[in-house]
Amino acid sequence: MRPYTYATAATPSQAVGLATNASAYLAGGTTLVDLMKLDVMGPSSVIDINALALTGTTVDSAGLHIGALSRMSDVATDPNVTKAFPVIAQALVASASPQIRNMASIGGNLLQRTRCDYFRDVHTPCNKRQAGSGCPAQQGANRTHAILGTSTSCAATHPSDLAVALMALDAVLTVQSGTGSRQIALADFYQLPGSTPSIENTLKIGELITSVTVPPLAWATKSSYLKVRDRTSYEFALSSAAIAVQTSGSMIGAARVAVGGVGTIPWRLPSVESALAGTTAGIANFTKAAANAATGAKTLSENAFKVTLVQRVIVRALSELLGVTS
Ligand code: SF4
Repeated sequence: MRPYTYATAATPSQAVGLATNASAYLAGGTTLVDLMKLDVMGPSSVIDINALALTGTTVDSAGLHIGALSRMSDVATDPNVTKAFPVIAQALVASASPQIRNMASIGGNLLQRTRCDYFRDVHTPCNKRQAGSGCPAQQGANRTHAILGTSTSCAATHPSDLAVALMALDAVLTVQSGTGSRQIALADFYQLPGSTPSIENTLKIGELITSVTVPPLAWATKSSYLKVRDRTSYEFALSSAAIAVQTSGSMIGAARVAVGGVGTIPWRLPSVESALAGTTAGIANFTKAAANAATGAKTLSENAFKVTLVQRVIVRALSELLGVTS
């Protein structure tokens, strides 16, 4: 057993004031408590932030603001979300289980750790958990691992569905530290593993995510999230696609496409977006655009199927969203 201190914070300033380089914030606890039990994470202090007034959504000229302590299930049914950004609601509903969605917070979801089995087993090496110890997934069990953004040090997928939807929508995080607050575009937040897979994002020590802002995008009313997995509930994506499409009749004016389950970070696909813009909605054009999805992919011994799968998921997502059958 590892001893740790427990403290509650009443305000974001108080929370960041309590933070050290060995502390962890406790929100829903659906990741942190699991990983503490497994001895994967061992903070010396736990700061309970559940009393902070960081829940609910608001809408203004800057877009949709989601409090970082909002529960996934609340955001999934929030009218500010379901009408304007169905892709967010669908990504949330596709995540985890109803019980976990009732507990897990939006900020925690974005910070959840990979589901690579080696990472969660302290009896095996893992560069992400213990720098320099090795990556057994490179030669071992890697069927669920990433094909995009990988390195020889790590090929773990990012597990969040929500992050994929937010990546497609150009979301921005607001974070607080002891010196004030700052904003970080989600596109700049997640870090590729490179030679330092234990560094997963650009948060500095003690910084706390307080909200997520989704900029206005009128045509995001036509958006969706499709997740393909080994079972239909309580399972992580083998491949997923978050899409939004601006159409005029059968013509596609613009598109947003990001994919999950295939990248070491939520993976935006600007080449697929540009290939879709200006085309007529149809399976042939969807297939042609989706062919760009796995450009630069590096496969391991068991996950080459994801090269084809991610393209098919994009085509199916577009087909279902736009009601196209041929
Ligand atoms: Fe660890 Fe990443 Fe290798 Fe998995 S893929 S064993 S998380 S270093």
